[in-house]
Amino acid sequence: MNFKDYIRVIPDYPQPGIRFKDITTLLNNGPAYKAAIDALKEMIKDLKIDLIAGPEARGFVIGAPLAYALGVGFVPIRKSGKLPGEVIEADYALEYGKDKLAMHKDAIQPGQKVLIADDLLATGGTIATSIHLIKELGGDIVGSVFLIELGYLPGREKLNGINVQSLIQYN
Ligand code: IMP
Repeated sequence: MNFKDYIRVIPDYPQPGIRFKDITTLLNNGPAYKAAIDALKEMIKDLKIDLIAGPEARGFVIGAPLAYALGVGFVPIRKSGKLPGEVIEADYALEYGKDKLAMHKDAIQPGQKVLIADDLLATGGTIATSIHLIKELGGDIVGSVFLIELGYLPGREKLNGINVQSLIQYN
């Protein structure tokens, strides 16, 4: 399947100069969504994983079905103020803007093997911050997996040392 056929590219969103990769058109198509999750599952089949962690909101639509398919737990990484329990937080910069991410303090037990999942790797800011939080909780990061990787941004380099896999690349 040529997954790019299902991704809609919207110019100048959310600000001039950004060519936004809209994955809602892929999610809208049952066979394409299923094939994408199945392909990502195949890419990580040799990793030993206890938990999948994904940043809101699109990290959920990739990470949660992957966790279900593997029969492992899913950990939401959320914007500040959304999680009801005790949290740890960290600031992060986006391709366009900045924010704060949070995780429940008891979401990961020290030594658990965690895979990070998200829809798209751009500058790597979101995932670098997610890595910081997971490590602070004592998680052992076994890699990261993305539906899309923007090869023209230095995301991969920013995650130095962490294994990065992506299904679709834009260069
Ligand atoms: P990064 O932190 O710069 O790597 O940006 C990645 C995050 O921003 C992901 O969680 C994406 O959801 C979002 N993002 C950045 N650019 C795009 C895009 O072109 N399409 C969809 N999401 C994007």
